[in-house]
Formats: sequence, structure tokens, C-alpha cells
Amino acid sequence: MLDLPELDLPGLGLDEGPGARWMCQVCGFVYDQAQGLPEEGIAPGTSWEAVPEDWACPECGMAKADFAMERLD
Ligand SMILES: [Zn+2]
Repeated sequence: MLDLPELDLPGLGLDEGPGARWMCQVCGFVYDQAQGLPEEGIAPGTSWEAVPEDWACPECGMAKADFAMERLD
């Protein structure tokens, strides 16, 4: 069995709570990981890190890499 390394992306080492949200810098679309995006094939509760790298904003088409995180308290 290969032991795949965990994703450890720069800037993503934050403590993501179940209510973490990510906001598109271009159009303000918010990805709420508690809700997911069922219409996009992303189940509720899917963490941001589990969203496919090729996913893009449904509003403006901006890639995942260009989203900025917005935290809920
Ligand atoms: Zn957008």
C-alpha cells in the first residue's frame, strides 16, 4: 500500500470548523461547507480541502485557487 502524503497546502493549515465558509474574491459567492453544493455534486459537510481542484465558482467561473476564506465565529 502506498502511503499518500496528506495535503498540506500553504495557507490552508487553519482550523476549519464545520461552519467554515469560503468567499469568491471576484463575485462574492460564498461556499458554505456545512451546506456543500449538492447541485454541483458536492455533498453537505464537504470540507474546502475536499472540493476538487478543478472546481470553479458557479457564479463567475473563477477557479478554487482564487477563492478567499471567510470565517464564521
Ligand atoms: Zn465567483
